[in-house]
Amino acid sequence: IRTVSKIHRIACIPGDGIGVDITNAAEQVLQKLSSTVGGFEFDFNTFDWSSSNYLSRGWYMPPDGLDQLKKHDAIYFGAVGWPDVPDHISLWGLILPIRKALNQYVNVRPTRILPGTTSPLSSCAANPSSLDWLIIRENSEGEYSGQGGTSHEHSPHAIATEVSIFTQVGIERIMRFAFEAARLRPRKKLTMVTKSNAQRHGMVLWDKVFYQVAKEYPDIEIDKMLVDAMTVRMVLNPQSLDTIVATNLHADILSDLAAALSGSIGIAPSSNLDPTRGNPSMFEPIHGSAPDIAGKGIANPVGAFWSAAEMVRWLGEEEAADGLMKAVENVTAAGVKTKDLGGEKNTKEVTDAVCAEIEKLF
Ligand code: ATP
Ligand code: MG
Repeated sequence: IRTVSKIHRIACIPGDGIGVDITNAAEQVLQKLSSTVGGFEFDFNTFDWSSSNYLSRGWYMPPDGLDQLKKHDAIYFGAVGWPDVPDHISLWGLILPIRKALNQYVNVRPTRILPGTTSPLSSCAANPSSLDWLIIRENSEGEYSGQGGTSHEHSPHAIATEVSIFTQVGIERIMRFAFEAARLRPRKKLTMVTKSNAQRHGMVLWDKVFYQVAKEYPDIEIDKMLVDAMTVRMVLNPQSLDTIVATNLHADILSDLAAALSGSIGIAPSSNLDPTRGNPSMFEPIHGSAPDIAGKGIANPVGAFWSAAEMVRWLGEEEAADGLMKAVENVTAAGVKTKDLGGEKNTKEVTDAVCAEIEKLF
């Protein structure tokens, strides 16, 4: 019997540093997944939009870059940023315009303790299920609106403003997404984070819209936290949290903390979603280019594999996504881990182990 495979067109942007290593690893694992599971294939299209090319060419993305990306079903992103280029230039040269232009207004960041790994929190080491969070980050506005300016720039009296923009529409759509996500999880619990005691406009609107939208979800248990107190609660009482919704800046910080508490920043995935599916969504590990370990072949590829699994799920291949995660968990459970997780394997060894596990599972 001949069956026709579904083709998923993937735009790959490896970027800088370990972004390149882990994107190669993810491609290898995804090819193994499609050839083993069957029924679908990936058509990878790689874009060399990196900081070194920025330095020689003067641009990160060509003028028609966004149009090129739109021709794909999903985008897989490694990392961008390099010491030679100020971080705000690289972020605004590539990743932030993509998120904004492709309407990726949700950033989903799950955190769990994987089998065979340990949390720096002693309360979690005994019971891995005590830390199982889903952080929903507002990804299109807020503190990263890019608005503001500097006056008297070259004088000792320089004044800079950084304007956060919060809209009713923007808040409502992220809240709805967060409530729907909470509803799909067993505990049906949503914690909303702001700083509305000190910031009296945007943060107060967040609070207000949260309680408005909550009325449509009486089955979801809700609570509200200030971001400073939230960091304490994440460390001291991790089991009291489940789904978390926060602004662009707050969720960015909280998800780095979450990743560290789950064992390593190297395992944490993220999905930049356009929930309307009008544009391709983008999947990337939350870590950066890690110049200190770039090119050494020792980066942890787990965050890249987990991000790839989320991409595969978004593309509708549920069984393959579950299998990929199972393969990753079997590999960490067997102690095949990179140094950041306390192991001694390199990127290639972990990648080969995950590929072998996929073959066993399917
Ligand atoms: P960027 O400027 O691109 O954000 P960064 O210097 O902030 O890069 P990150 O990648 O965010 O670095 O991570 C901070 C540190 O965590 C790195 O320097 C590295 O030592 C470690 N790290 C991050 N990702 C990984 C990984 N996948 N595997 C192993 N270690 C990692
Ligand atoms: Mg960083």
